[in-house]
Amino acid sequence: MSAAGELDDVECRELSRLAKKSLRKSYMSSTKTQTGAAPAQACWNCNAVAGGGHFCAACGKIQPLADGADYFAFFGLPQKLKIDEAGLEQRFHQLSWKLHPDNFVKASEFERNLALERSSELNDAYRTLREPVLRVEYLLLREGVRKEGTTKQQAPPELLEEVFELNESLDELRTARNDGGDLSGLRVRLGEAQKNFQEKLEEIDAELLHVFSEWDKSVDAGADDNERRKQMAKLNEVLNRRSYIRNLVRNVAQELEA
Ligand SMILES: [Zn+2]
Repeated sequence: MSAAGELDDVECRELSRLAKKSLRKSYMSSTKTQTGAAPAQACWNCNAVAGGGHFCAACGKIQPLADGADYFAFFGLPQKLKIDEAGLEQRFHQLSWKLHPDNFVKASEFERNLALERSSELNDAYRTLREPVLRVEYLLLREGVRKEGTTKQQAPPELLEEVFELNESLDELRTARNDGGDLSGLRVRLGEAQKNFQEKLEEIDAELLHVFSEWDKSVDAGADDNERRKQMAKLNEVLNRRSYIRNLVRNVAQELEA
């Protein structure tokens, strides 16, 4: 996972907004299936089983968004965390073209509204799924494992000592800056600590990808709810750790630039 997986505060707020929308949808749905796939619905136009796709297989008319369909289902994907990103992008462009309002100029108001709703949903779904961290946060928010807009801000136990030292150095830097003291030694020390935590962040990203694989295996194996919960708790734990370290690295960078 590269810098592309980084979230800034704007993205975090955006994700909360998206999750709120999709959570609202999942509360409304009484037929949500374990895979997040859409249940079969009859086409509003020809009454054939529309199959949960964007368009009816029989008459080709655009369909309303199925209750309980999540962003994965939107792209016809299983709820897996490792995604072929090039394939996703290609599918996004295909759907953008098919759902474009220009294709519905002569359609009924009902269909025009469906196309608008779908297009907006498509953009939200794509922006969320293309980023690995947003993707897993979305999954966990939707499953109620992660609470919207909150992350536990506790130092990981194995890093307590290093975090304590880092905070001390930050305090010293602030004091020295206010007193007009010599900052060069402190800056070197903080720079090293920052590099150290940056490396830890990279290790956590590698760990996260490993847990992604574990989750995907359990999806393939049709794991029961118990196993799914276990995997999601693990994903959540790694995400919390990642978020903590990422904030730490960011705070140090801000102090060093101040
Ligand atoms: Zn139809």
